[in-house]
Amino acid sequence: MTGCGGDTAGGGSSDGGNGGDAPFEVAKDVALTGSPTFDKIKSSGAIRIGVKEDQPGLGYLDAATGERSGFDIEIATWMAAKLGVAKDKIEFKAIPSANRETALANGDVDLYVGTYSITDKRKKLVDFAGPYFITGQGLLVQKSNETIKSEKDLAGKKVCSATGSTPIQNIRENFPKATPVEFDIYSKCVDALKSGSVDAVTTDQAILLGFASQDPDNLKVVGEPFTVEKYGIGLPKGDTALRTFLNETLTDGNATWTKIYDSTLGKSGTKVEQPKVDQY
Ligand code: GLU
Repeated sequence: MTGCGGDTAGGGSSDGGNGGDAPFEVAKDVALTGSPTFDKIKSSGAIRIGVKEDQPGLGYLDAATGERSGFDIEIATWMAAKLGVAKDKIEFKAIPSANRETALANGDVDLYVGTYSITDKRKKLVDFAGPYFITGQGLLVQKSNETIKSEKDLAGKKVCSATGSTPIQNIRENFPKATPVEFDIYSKCVDALKSGSVDAVTTDQAILLGFASQDPDNLKVVGEPFTVEKYGIGLPKGDTALRTFLNETLTDGNATWTKIYDSTLGKSGTKVEQPKVDQY
């Protein structure tokens, strides 16, 4: 397999969006019955996918070129291709952490792929395929910071995270001596960290490493991950046929997963295995 033969996605678009990796082969005659979401996708010929666009390496929009890149964007593009939708028929919608369940429940998006942890609370409102990646909550501080070395050093500190996220909830519940600060998106927390109005940013280490790698002179990740965050593909609750289809795609697609990982998050040199899908 060379990874560049066969049908390629879209007429004019040259690659999968992350520096030259091959496009995904777009499936034809997809057999997926009993999925209201797929019926909608099929009749419109397009898919709407909720993403992040300020998280380098995961879900990022280059404002100058209009190009989206990152691990989540590639996973989303792969799933769309398996559902028979080429990249130029994907409508990406930036949706912040706090609005994901509502966006899926309202039918504003067909799928959500954006550092979305599978939790029991969220499972009451949406379904998840996956997990397709596992990370954990970490800490980002100014490079010159010598006082915060781990989550044990947060007492009296201003700690920033996104509204509606698992890390801000963890800070509120388990770090009563820290002062939580919230914004809708993580890049605003990073701006606050750089200007000195907060002491740390906390969210998944995978996200923080992306911010740190964009500004290594001023930012650093400290400590070890102190929670387990399993990323799922969010989908409308009750669409079991679609969830099963996506889970099977992930399970059967280890080679593709590895290629996506290597071309995005894996560029830092860290090697991880694809997690086992949990068919709950
Ligand atoms: N994975 C965590 C969550 O789903 C943090 C990242 C995010 O907010 O997207 O809440």
